[in-house]
Amino acid sequence: MNKVAKYLNEHLSGEVASQDFALSQVEVDNGLLARRPEMIVRAANMNDIRKVMRFCSQLAEKGHVLPVFVRGCGNDETGAATNKGIAIDEKTYMNRVIGIDPRQQLIHAQAGISLSAINATLSTHKGLGLPRTSYVAEEGTIGGAINTAPSGILSGAHGRFADAVQQLEIVLSNGDVIQTGRISRRELSKKKGLSTFEGEIYREIDNLISDNAELISQMDPALPDTVGYSGISRVKQRRVI
Ligand SMILES: Cc1cc2nc3c(=O)[nH]c(=O)nc-3n(C[C@H](O)[C@H](O)[C@H](O)COP(=O)(O)OP(=O)(O)OC[C@H]3O[C@@H](n4cnc5c(N)ncnc54)[C@H](O)[C@@H]3O)c2cc1C
Repeated sequence: MNKVAKYLNEHLSGEVASQDFALSQVEVDNGLLARRPEMIVRAANMNDIRKVMRFCSQLAEKGHVLPVFVRGCGNDETGAATNKGIAIDEKTYMNRVIGIDPRQQLIHAQAGISLSAINATLSTHKGLGLPRTSYVAEEGTIGGAINTAPSGILSGAHGRFADAVQQLEIVLSNGDVIQTGRISRRELSKKKGLSTFEGEIYREIDNLISDNAELISQMDPALPDTVGYSGISRVKQRRVI
C-alpha cells in the first residue's frame, strides 16, 4: 500500500483498497477504455468523501495532481467510470434509504444504492417507482443514473430521470458540501454573496445564464437530451417541465 493509501486508510471510517485484484475490477467499465486507479476508497459516509476531496485539493495546490472519480457499477460505456488516481466507491457502504415520505412522493437515499433497491422500497407504496428508461441497468447505482441523466423511449410516458430529482447533497472538489434545489430570488442573491466556493459556483452560473440569454431562449427546455445542455434553460424557470 502506498503512502497516500496508508494515510487515508488511517483517517477514514471506510477503507482503502490497493491490491491488484481490487484495482483490476474497476479499470474498465462496460466499454473498451482501460485506466487503472491507484486505490479505491470505499467511503463509509459523506465525511470520508469530504476528507478525500480536501486532501486531494491540498495536494493539487502543492502541484501534485491526484484525480478523483466516483465509480458506481461501471455500467457506463464511455470510460467515465474509469480513471487514474482515486476511485470512490459508494456502493459498498453508502447504499441505504435514509427516509421515505409517500405523501410527498419523496425518497431520500444515499448515492451508492442500486436502482432495484430503491424500486423495491418504493413498490411497498402504491403508485411509486423511479421513472423507467429503456436501457439503464437495474443494478446500477442512483448516483450513476443521476450523473448520466438517462432517458429513452419510455421517458415520454414516465418522465425523465433528472426531473425526478428534487435535491442533491454534493461534495465539491475542495471538500465543501452544498445542497441543491429550487430556490427563491432572495435565496439566490444570498448564495451569490457567499465568499465560499458555493458562492463562486452560483455567481458563475448566474453570469453564464445572463451572458447567453439569447442563445438559451432558443433552447427547448422539454428536449429529451441526455447530455444536459438544455437543462440550463430550466434553471430559472418558475415550474419544472
Ligand atoms: C447498454 C447501456 C445503454 C445505456 N444507454 C443509456 C442511454 O440511452 N441514456 C443514458 O443516459 N445513459 C445510458 N446508459 C448509461 C447508464 O445511465 C449508466 O450505465 C448507469 O445508469 C450508470 O450507473 P452505474 O452505477 O453503473 O454508474 P457508472 O457506470 O459506474 O458511472 C457512470 C458515471 O456516473 C458517475 N458517477 C457514479 N456515481 C456517482 C456519484 N455518486 N456522484 C457523482 N458521479 C457519479 C461516474 O463517475 C461516471 O461518470 C447506458 C448504459 C448501458 C450499459
